[in-house]
Amino acid sequence: MVTSSPQRCAYCEYPIEPEDRWVREKIYESAPSSNGPSYFRYHADLFVGEEISCWEKHLMELEITRATAWAA
Ligand SMILES: [Zn+2]
Repeated sequence: MVTSSPQRCAYCEYPIEPEDRWVREKIYESAPSSNGPSYFRYHADLFVGEEISCWEKHLMELEITRATAWAA
């Protein structure tokens, strides 16, 4: 049986298991250095003891980055 290499969460860098829920974010359509669309994957499920998922944490980081850029 062929198993694909495990996908890793771009936020916490832990593997995303097949049974996990996850979110895919397209980074860019294509670039000279790549062969097509590129994606990040994030856990959509909460870890035990966490209040928000990796995906939500990532979104919050984006908001902070955007706010900082606007302030600069
Ligand atoms: Zn994660």
